[in-house]
Amino acid sequence: MHRVVIVGGGAGGLELATRLGDRLGRRGRAQVTLVDRSRTHLWKPLLHEVAAGSMDINDHSLDYLAQARWHRFTFALGALAGLDRAAREVVVARVVDGEGQEILPERRIGYDTLVLAIGSESNDFGTPGVRDHAFTLDSTVEADLFHERLVNACFRANYTAPGEIVSIAIVGAGATGVELAAELHNTIRVLAGYGLRNFDPAKQIRITIVEAGPRILAGIPDHVADGTMDVLKDLGIEVLTNEKVVEVTARGLKTASGREVPGRFVVWAAGIRCNDVLKELDGLETNRINQLVVQPTLQSARDENVFAIGDCAAAPWKDGRNVPPRAQSAHQMADHMVKTIEGRLRGRAPTPYRYRDFGSLVTLGDYDTMGQIMGFISSEKFRVEGWIAKFVYVSLYRQHVWALYGFWRMALDTLARWIRRQTEPRVKLH
Ligand SMILES: Cc1cc2nc3c(=O)[nH]c(=O)nc-3n(C[C@H](O)[C@H](O)[C@H](O)COP(=O)(O)OP(=O)(O)OC[C@H]3O[C@@H](n4cnc5c(N)ncnc54)[C@H](O)[C@@H]3O)c2cc1C
Repeated sequence: MHRVVIVGGGAGGLELATRLGDRLGRRGRAQVTLVDRSRTHLWKPLLHEVAAGSMDINDHSLDYLAQARWHRFTFALGALAGLDRAAREVVVARVVDGEGQEILPERRIGYDTLVLAIGSESNDFGTPGVRDHAFTLDSTVEADLFHERLVNACFRANYTAPGEIVSIAIVGAGATGVELAAELHNTIRVLAGYGLRNFDPAKQIRITIVEAGPRILAGIPDHVADGTMDVLKDLGIEVLTNEKVVEVTARGLKTASGREVPGRFVVWAAGIRCNDVLKELDGLETNRINQLVVQPTLQSARDENVFAIGDCAAAPWKDGRNVPPRAQSAHQMADHMVKTIEGRLRGRAPTPYRYRDFGSLVTLGDYDTMGQIMGFISSEKFRVEGWIAKFVYVSLYRQHVWALYGFWRMALDTLARWIRRQTEPRVKLH
């Protein structure tokens, strides 16, 4: 039987494994294996909500083992450790528990088609102090830890150090940075409403976004950036542009112009790169941020049995640019790979993938959502704002849940969550 191995069960990889399991695994036409270093999946665009406390990871995490059983694929826990292209085997690292005891040994998993979908992580560009003093939104663990520390700091500012200022500096004014800032502004106020009587967020919370470029939301239309800027100003969130961060310290950050920005909490949300493991993957070609260079068919430039999708793929798009690292690209690439693998089983050559940009949306907590989306009939783009934009934004996640669970489970899940929200605090209080 044809062996398909997918490494990375994120926005792209998990959708791919689920659909291939349903279409090929269930009918005994292929053996599908998903490898991931985590045991559970959470859609990455939700991480800033986890960090801000407006979402509890336990409510939204999906268990890979359960998904594998329901959709007829095999799940293998462990990080990608290497590749042997001659033997067509992926090397999966051993797994140890918190005490260093081995749970699973290093393994080799054979493939006929390999799809790499391990996503990306924050790029600190070698800036001193980032690793020691800044949070990134790369994983649920980190986002949750940030939230816990922030709640503790607010409690301290209420009980043990009244009047203390909790400063948050966010590096990078892309969608992640600005969305996090607005979400934090909102959730901290909600948190304060739960009995923190000596804590006044208007005076004791200071949020600053620091951006190296000339404006916020690079690559997103001007009117969205202008509208977002107005909202941030109204909220009292300071935005510094043309300020390149050169060092992060325990007390904040320093910029190239000599400016010092206070930051009891620093969140690094500027740029992406891929894990170093890709750089040494049996001679496969990578670019300067370790993405795998792929042909338009998503096949690696040096091995036609190895494909890459999502953030870890440098796939050509237009005007010399690559497909942007977004959840919608990962979703579309997974869709394309389903057809490619089905075609491969029938002996058909892979066809090129074409990225369709459906637009961009920026959601600013409970305050506003705005953006530009592609029309349903024409390819013209439309400005959207307010509840319509929020609806489209929320439906992007629902689309992912639909791809994983099917329509009826997604609909029931949406209803169940809505009911549960009526009986729970609006933010995570611990
Ligand atoms: C805070 C935040 C907000 C975002 N908001 C948006 C948004 O609003 N809209 C949008 O389009 N995009 C958004 N993005 C970008 C989007 O999340 C990514 O583009 C998308 O998740 C990429 O999908 P992927 O499948 O390539 O990787 P991911 O979804 O990141 O999944 C990668 C998977 O690989 C696993 N993995 C990683 N390394 C290894 C390894 N060495 N071995 C085994 N497994 C490994 C991980 O555990 C994970 O399950 C956001 C990103 C962040 C961080």
